[in-house]
Amino acid sequence: MNPKKIALTFLSAIGLLGGAGQAGAQTQTPAKPNVVILATGGTIASRGADSLALTDYGLSKGLKPVGVEALVAAVPEIEKFANITGEQIFNVGSSKLGIDNWLTLAKRTNEILASKNVDGVVITHGTDTLEETAYFLNLVVKSAKPVVLVGSMRPSTGMSADGPLNLVNAVALAASPSARDKGVMVSMNEVIGSAFSVTKTNTTNVATFKSLDGGDLGYMQNSTPFFVAQPLKRHTVHSEFDVSGLQKLPRVDINYTTLGSDGVLIDAAVAAGARGIVNAGVGHANMPEVTMQSLKAAQQKGVAVVVGSRTVSGIVTPTGPFTEAGFVSSMMHTAQKARILLMLGLTRTSDPKELQRIFEQY
Ligand code: ASP
Repeated sequence: MNPKKIALTFLSAIGLLGGAGQAGAQTQTPAKPNVVILATGGTIASRGADSLALTDYGLSKGLKPVGVEALVAAVPEIEKFANITGEQIFNVGSSKLGIDNWLTLAKRTNEILASKNVDGVVITHGTDTLEETAYFLNLVVKSAKPVVLVGSMRPSTGMSADGPLNLVNAVALAASPSARDKGVMVSMNEVIGSAFSVTKTNTTNVATFKSLDGGDLGYMQNSTPFFVAQPLKRHTVHSEFDVSGLQKLPRVDINYTTLGSDGVLIDAAVAAGARGIVNAGVGHANMPEVTMQSLKAAQQKGVAVVVGSRTVSGIVTPTGPFTEAGFVSSMMHTAQKARILLMLGLTRTSDPKELQRIFEQY
C-alpha cells in the first residue's frame, strides 16, 4: 500500500475526512491513542551502500529515501503504544526545506490535531534543521496535544542505527497524556528536549541534541516518558502567532560577526528585501563599529534589528546602548531561533518595544 493510501485509510477511520468514519469510531472503544506520523525525510529515511556507511549515504550515493510506510513497518513495536498512520508530507533532507514547507507542515499539523480522534503527532525530520522546524511549530501549533519531532543521526541501513528506537520513543511520547501542553518536543537518544532549548551540537554523534540553556524536559526510559521540567516560555495554545492565512513570511537574515568583520552582508540583506536582521554578535552581542553603522542604516530604512550572540548559551541583557539605539535583544535565542521569532513577530508588529516584549515572552 502506498503511504498516501495508508494515510487516507486512517484519516477516514478517525473521521477527519467526514462520512462514515466518525460514526464507526463511536461504536468502538478506543483501546489505544491515535498517533499520526508526518514524514518529511532526513537521515532517518535514508539508506547507505553498506552498514558502515554512516556519513556518506542517501541521494548523493544514488540511494532513494525510504517512505513512511517502510519507516513504520520497521518498528512493529510502536503498535504497543498507539494506533498509527503515516503520511508522507515531503521526503527531502532538512537542509533542502523552505518556508513554504513550514507553512504546509504547520497547517497540516493543525488540521490533524483539530480532530478529536487524534491524540498526538510525530514528525520525522532531518536533524540538520530539526530544531528550527520544532521552534517554528512551537509558536504556531494550536493544540495542547503532544507534537514530537524525531530524526536519526545514522541511516536506516547503518550499524547501530538510532532511528528505530528514536521513532518508537517518539510515538510512545506522543501517545502519552503526560506529554500534553509541553510545547513542541524533540525526542532523540532517549532525551526529551523542548523546542525552545534544544540545539544540534555535533555533526555526527547520536548524542548531538543538547539543551544548553533551560535543561532537558525529561527522559525516555524503556519507552516511558519521565518528565523533570515544564516549559515556561509561551508556546502552542499560549502563543499569539497564527499562520493559518499566511502564504509567506517576512524575510529575515542573520549576520555572523567575527573579529574584523564589517557590515557588507547586512547592506546586501537589506538590498535583497530583508525586513529584519539578526546580528549574531561576539560575546554579549558585541560587534565592530562598522557593523553597528550598517545596522543603524538598516534600521533607518525600517528594518527591525535583533542583537544576539554567536555563543551557544546565555542571555543578551535587554538594556544598554543597543536597547537605546532601538535594537531588540535576542534574550536566550540562538541566531537561528531568533530569526524564526522575528519572522513571526514581524507578522504582528514592527515596533521595537513590542518585538522586545515578544523576545522576552517566547
Ligand atoms: N542530512 C540530514 C538532514 O536531513 C541529517 C540528518 O537527518 O541527520 O538533516
